[in-house]
Amino acid sequence: MEAKKIRSTFIEFFQSKQHHYVPSSPIVVKNDPTLMFTNAGMNQFKDAFLGNEVAKFPRVANSQKCLRVSGKHNDLEEVGVDTYHHTMFEMLGNWSFGDYFKKEAIAWAWELLTEVYGLSKDRLYVSVFEGDKDDNLEMDKEAFDLWKAIVPEGRIIMGSKKDNFWEMGDTGPCGPCSEIHIDLRSDAERQAIPGRDLVNNDHPQVIEIWNLVFMQFNRVSDGSLKPLPATHVDTGMGFERLVRAIQHKSSNYDTDLFTPFIAELEKKSGKKYGENEQTDIAFRVIVDHIRAISFTIADGQIPSNNKAGYVIRRILRRAVRYGYTFLGFNEPFLYELTPMIAANFGDIFPEVRQQQEFIAKVIFEEETSFLRTLSNGLKMLDQIKTELKAKNETVISGKTAFELYDTFGFPLDLTSLIARENGLSLDEEGFASEMETQKNRSRAASESETGDWMMVHPDEGVEFIGYDFLKADSNIIKYRVISDKKGDRYQVVLDKTPFYAESGGQVGDTGWLISEVEKIRVVDTKKENDLIVHFVEKLPEHPEKQFSAEVDQAKRSLTMNNHTATHLLQSALKTVLGDHIQQRGSLVNDQLLRFDFSHFGKMTDEEIERVENIVNEKVRENIPLLERRNVPIEEAKAQGATALFGEKYGEFVRVITFDPKYSVELCGGTHVPSTSQIGLVKIVSEGSISAGVRRIEAITSKAAESYLRDQESVLKEIQELLKNPKDVKKAIEALLEERNTLKKEIESLHLEKSAGVKTSLLTEFVKGEGINTLVAKVELPNADSLKKLAYELKNEVENAFVILAASIDGKPQIAVILEESLINSKNLNAGQIVRELAKEIQGGGGGQPFFATAGGKDLSGLDRVIAKAKELYL
Ligand code: ATP
Ligand code: MG
Repeated sequence: MEAKKIRSTFIEFFQSKQHHYVPSSPIVVKNDPTLMFTNAGMNQFKDAFLGNEVAKFPRVANSQKCLRVSGKHNDLEEVGVDTYHHTMFEMLGNWSFGDYFKKEAIAWAWELLTEVYGLSKDRLYVSVFEGDKDDNLEMDKEAFDLWKAIVPEGRIIMGSKKDNFWEMGDTGPCGPCSEIHIDLRSDAERQAIPGRDLVNNDHPQVIEIWNLVFMQFNRVSDGSLKPLPATHVDTGMGFERLVRAIQHKSSNYDTDLFTPFIAELEKKSGKKYGENEQTDIAFRVIVDHIRAISFTIADGQIPSNNKAGYVIRRILRRAVRYGYTFLGFNEPFLYELTPMIAANFGDIFPEVRQQQEFIAKVIFEEETSFLRTLSNGLKMLDQIKTELKAKNETVISGKTAFELYDTFGFPLDLTSLIARENGLSLDEEGFASEMETQKNRSRAASESETGDWMMVHPDEGVEFIGYDFLKADSNIIKYRVISDKKGDRYQVVLDKTPFYAESGGQVGDTGWLISEVEKIRVVDTKKENDLIVHFVEKLPEHPEKQFSAEVDQAKRSLTMNNHTATHLLQSALKTVLGDHIQQRGSLVNDQLLRFDFSHFGKMTDEEIERVENIVNEKVRENIPLLERRNVPIEEAKAQGATALFGEKYGEFVRVITFDPKYSVELCGGTHVPSTSQIGLVKIVSEGSISAGVRRIEAITSKAAESYLRDQESVLKEIQELLKNPKDVKKAIEALLEERNTLKKEIESLHLEKSAGVKTSLLTEFVKGEGINTLVAKVELPNADSLKKLAYELKNEVENAFVILAASIDGKPQIAVILEESLINSKNLNAGQIVRELAKEIQGGGGGQPFFATAGGKDLSGLDRVIAKAKELYL
């Protein structure tokens, strides 16, 4: 069975059991401070499990793009080395939110694997939670009995808390789980050692394929478990592993998910897969990583220097490095695999097809710059080698290796490989300890402690009313304290709130919570998954009281101007630059709007002007806002509404329209009732922020007005400085021309002057035995003319020995020049002489034995220089 068919069979199987299919949520996580990337199918349903939100469907099935390269789940170092862990993989899942529980979950999993996919029953093992004393939990007898009815007891394995009790994090929903493992070894091997002994033992052929989690507890921050009000099922099956089992392969990489990529790499590198373990690892690393990189870029994460962007950059570099070292690629090559990603995954994940060209460009730029880094690092290493040799040492220190790693992105194993090739060794322990120090530093900086929610009023869900109201009578559902290095922060959740929580680029509202006894400032509003969290300056003393929640209206209103202007801008950019324009990020606050978009090449002044003109025309047209909530997503898309890649949309969306023929966008932000409120839009900058991504910053209404007023007053000041000419531009041009003419005149005067100085100096030489000495004080316009004069004197006088003490622009300088032969015959050295004389002007300098100069601080010392020189040399 082909991979594609295996995937669709899974979905159809659960659809036949009344499950609703939902598309994968983006791989890059927004609105969750605890997570950078989606690492399990359940991430997008977290709120339903936490009870923050009522699940839209009681039964759901999906295939979720996951990435396990950071945080709690980090498989990166395994990837490529083994054959069944990936960075990015698909997790197939079926879900019950307060609906069915263990009985159905177990029966269906077994039916699907053995009857639909035809996996042989005598290769499968299942595990059951054995209980845990610390948590006061019995074994999961319910699951055990259910399994026993369909699987021989010898195939059921009791598992500890580590393997069979699933937890979302330190706190949150959790419960026992049952894993399904498969033994893919040959019959002979299976005869020799029973598979049950190898389950959960890191055997590459006896692997976990499916985890059925039965959520029934909530772990609170004192460590204890509380039963959840409703029980849920969360299952996750590694798609790539399933495909491998069904296709009877001994490695995920031998399935049709990966073989086309491996074949392509074989063609490009001229190397064969399966001949050498080192090159095989490189093949696997590359065909794995290209998926992770492409999918994350498609979901809006561009490689960069921090956070999620840095994680992607490191994965990309790992792939480039393996290609470079083991497959001989020293030119960019990864980007050429992106058309194949589009072709193989574009059906189920359309974003990688739609953005193929963009993804390729971003990868190409990254590869190019990292290959440059690699070659710089190699040069650095060469230098280190030479230095070590000079000192007769053979160990590259941990500090040096760490520096190469940290500042040049130069991986340790590469440093160590090159070291070995050069008969050197590497202090790996030293490296590890440097690494540890850095980790501790960043851990200390980011550590925070999250207190439990303190419940005040019953939690019946949160209502956001901020599209229609800026004020509400609200009750506090719960509050908590978060402590980190910066101190304590306080969070409050309201039952009903007019506060807009930061999202879609728009900043969170600020304002006040006012009760009859206190007034508390709200400094920010953010989402945590779908919960609206108000950050307040202090905790309420009487949280049980009713509060008037009041948004800062002035700030909100300016922010709305900027948000609507962003929509107008996006459409104008499409009109002027073309339909390839796609939003790559945005920031909207009360000061400005920032809009990042994909486009290759700088915008011309004329393009910027055209965009600005179109936008301002739309402002003047006074187009009314057409806001529609709860539009089915398919309908919105059919109407051509602009959607964002990497944004998580539900089944129903909000559509913001300013003229159906001009701007239709899926958007949750707040907007002006009609465009003329914006007043004026002014683009203040346009530039590049990374490969293929441009950034525009613009301002509106009052800010735009005062910007223009500032410009105007600068112009006025210039006019006044120029004594109010009729035409300022002409006046400045005339001034510049005059300046050029004067500059030329001064230059020629300088020349004349130095020529005059030289003529008179030629007469002042003092004749000696085989030497003609001149000691003189001069005044010259610049250092160049001093040097020039010295050389000319030396060239025109035989056996010249010249000491010039010059005042240049109010600063003392000394130049000493002498005929080369005098160095030996008279034992003179210009460098030494100049250093000695420079003491008189509190300065220093040097040069060559025949010519040297010095500068100093004390102009009055020039006379002492002359006196000393005369004393010594005349
Ligand atoms: P393992 O012990 O093999 O790393 P896990 O316990 O981390 O697996 P779960 O968190 O239970 O796995 O995830 C559910 C399923 O996702 C697993 O049964 C497995 O099939 C799959 N899976 C987990 N990690 C990876 C990975 N890095 N690459 C591919 N599939 C994976
Ligand atoms: Mg794991």
